[in-house]
Amino acid sequence: MLRSTVVSALASLLLVAPLAPARAEPAAPPREPEAVGWGGAVASIDPDASRIGVDVLRRGGNAVDAAVAVAAALGVTDPFSAGIGGGGFFVHYDARTRRVSTLDGRETAPAAVGPDLFVEDGRALPFAEAVTSGLSVGVPGTPRTWQRALQRWGTLSLDRALAPAEELARRGFTVDATFHRQVSENADRFADFTSTKALYLPVPAVGSRFRNPDLADTYRELRREGVSALYRGRLGRDVVAAVTEPPVTPGTTRVVRPGAMTAADLAGYEVARREPTRTRYRGLDVFGMAPPSSGGTTVGEALNILEHTDLGDETPVQYLHRFLEASRLSYADRNRWVGDPAFADVPTERLLAQRFADSRACLISPTAVLTSPVAPGDPHDPRPCATAGAPAATPYEGTDTTHLTVADRWGNVVAYTLTLEQEGGSGIVVPGRGFLLNNELTDFSFTPVTPGVPDPNLPGPGKRPRSSMSPTIVLHHGQPVLALGSPGGASIITTVLQVLTQRLDRGLPLVAAIAAPRASQRNAATTQAEKAFLATGEADALHALGHRFTPTDEIGAVTAVERLPDGRWRAAAETTRRGGGAARVVSPR
Ligand code: GLU
Repeated sequence: MLRSTVVSALASLLLVAPLAPARAEPAAPPREPEAVGWGGAVASIDPDASRIGVDVLRRGGNAVDAAVAVAAALGVTDPFSAGIGGGGFFVHYDARTRRVSTLDGRETAPAAVGPDLFVEDGRALPFAEAVTSGLSVGVPGTPRTWQRALQRWGTLSLDRALAPAEELARRGFTVDATFHRQVSENADRFADFTSTKALYLPVPAVGSRFRNPDLADTYRELRREGVSALYRGRLGRDVVAAVTEPPVTPGTTRVVRPGAMTAADLAGYEVARREPTRTRYRGLDVFGMAPPSSGGTTVGEALNILEHTDLGDETPVQYLHRFLEASRLSYADRNRWVGDPAFADVPTERLLAQRFADSRACLISPTAVLTSPVAPGDPHDPRPCATAGAPAATPYEGTDTTHLTVADRWGNVVAYTLTLEQEGGSGIVVPGRGFLLNNELTDFSFTPVTPGVPDPNLPGPGKRPRSSMSPTIVLHHGQPVLALGSPGGASIITTVLQVLTQRLDRGLPLVAAIAAPRASQRNAATTQAEKAFLATGEADALHALGHRFTPTDEIGAVTAVERLPDGRWRAAAETTRRGGGAARVVSPR
């Protein structure tokens, strides 16, 4: 539905001034939530990584070159969320062809995995036990993603793109409060692996210098030998050994189950090129990640539901009420219908059809709250207000990942979310290699979420677990206006949806849209909400409407870029979440 008023409102919004000032951080490079200027932009959670990205752009590299360099740097400074032991989704806008394409670098299950991967004696393993194990480790997709992205769109070799990150790992960086906290939170399980303990314990002090020579050497090996070092070489053999015989500290009482990954699993890994999801929203085209991520379909369905109301005209309470209800309904459909499309018949296009969204939107009342879990709709046969079968609850997902957004002087854009799943992944550092292995396979349903209802997300050989990662690029008449993404497990989807609607419909400046207090409704009886959200008058009014909340400290950590009408870029990041992000441009103002 085209609404020209919204489009022109968007154009004027892009000139609105930012909100919050930078937050000073002693002894560490500055973190700034906003930068505006020419020549390209980088937004990530980390100042060293964003600096490296801007250097690549300044020297003539394009957005893909910079994105790979930033991601590799995050593998050094944000190693509990990102790195070559994990996977992710890479969304790219090509300024020459005006096309958005994606790379699916999701981890895959080894060939030996069956639907009962996390079932013992007829019962699902406790989540915490499954996470810290070789069982949870999927075949890493991140190195292959970097290689394929550079081959397809980049100008740098992998060798050159990884050089700054190798140097960063070798020379070290200043430990900040977030790094310190992340190690502290994981200290118990890190102590249970000899390799992880040697690298990260005792917990490094804030302000100290942290060096990772093993990771520097691993990056050097990838630079010299290419990613075959991992998929067919010595590095791969070390990964397989760490998964099949985890380096457990003698005397630990933790039961660490080994995984079944083989050299053949690594050799068989490939990144999938996928068509992006596309949703028309108020005259804009919103592109996202297709299954096995549920990001594109769920953000898209919710936007289609919300398009029924002019959110710009609603009261703040009605805006939030509709945002929560649209999230609730879309989550019901996500849980029922989305999994790895190579294994399940995922109705991607039908989920994104306006007719389907219309059949769901009619369930929303301005004066009452839906009771969760609500049942899914049937995208194959959408009928007004009809539901299809039993409701399925949203399974737990980890909350740590990292998202980077880059734009270059030619107008190319990258939105790239990468992860190990949990903060610290499986907890297993590959001995002598300086990086953590993921626990991505815990993103599978351990058992069907609703007994008797088909679950498209059960484990299987070579299968990719469903994700919530939602790297998103928004175009207007084929030109990028906004790109963003976030960590946060299942709350990624609602975070991206909230920032999109705050920016596009409610008219907040980008940094304010990112800083706004968040709430996340995922088809559960209560809505997760930040304490800052609960302190607002809107939260009281939503409570009076029937919404119930569970408090949490932080939801998500967004980074974004947007293009201004005069051609400049604005990079934007968090003001305080995760200690604040790092927005940079090549030539400020
Ligand atoms: N594993 C989650 C996913 O793929 C991401 C975890 C996180 O954001 O922390 O959706």
